[in-house]
Amino acid sequence: MQINAAQQLKSPLGDTRYYSIDETTREGFHIRGEAKLVRTNRSILVTGQFITVVRCTCSRCLEEFECPLEFEMEEEYFPAGAIPNGLAGPVADDMDGFAIGGDHILDLNEAVRQNILIGLPAKPLCQVECAGLCQRCGYNLNYGPCNCVEKQGDPRWTPLGALLSTEIAGDNYGST
Ligand SMILES: [Zn+2]
Ligand SMILES: [Zn+2]
Repeated sequence: MQINAAQQLKSPLGDTRYYSIDETTREGFHIRGEAKLVRTNRSILVTGQFITVVRCTCSRCLEEFECPLEFEMEEEYFPAGAIPNGLAGPVADDMDGFAIGGDHILDLNEAVRQNILIGLPAKPLCQVECAGLCQRCGYNLNYGPCNCVEKQGDPRWTPLGALLSTEIAGDNYGST
């Protein structure tokens, strides 16, 4: 996830280069896509569309599954001399981005990691029709019905059932 930007930093404004990415990040995400690097008056602007696969835990059945994730990124990379606290003079307030190392290496890893985190689904589902877990026994209903199904009966009768059993318990108590 590293691109040597030495040549492009010397190029005129607007110089545009494309890099196809097919690499694994330090965190182990395999990223595929294309990065577009444009030389601006103060930075190199990186935009790109990528696809990766992340391990997700299904929010219904709690199974882990592999979830394809597409994400876009748009980040500015500032040359070492222009970053805040550098010696390049006043910097704009909106300077928000990453630094290019003194070796002119533009490292996409951190930006990609951040964009993956942002792109993660809030409530991932292993499948649209995930049946979830049985609320009684916790069985994963995607594998079929659990043993509770027959015992459960019609939930509308549960309060009545509870009432009857207390009455029976009361009778038993009274008769002893
Ligand atoms: Zn699921
Ligand atoms: Zn069950």
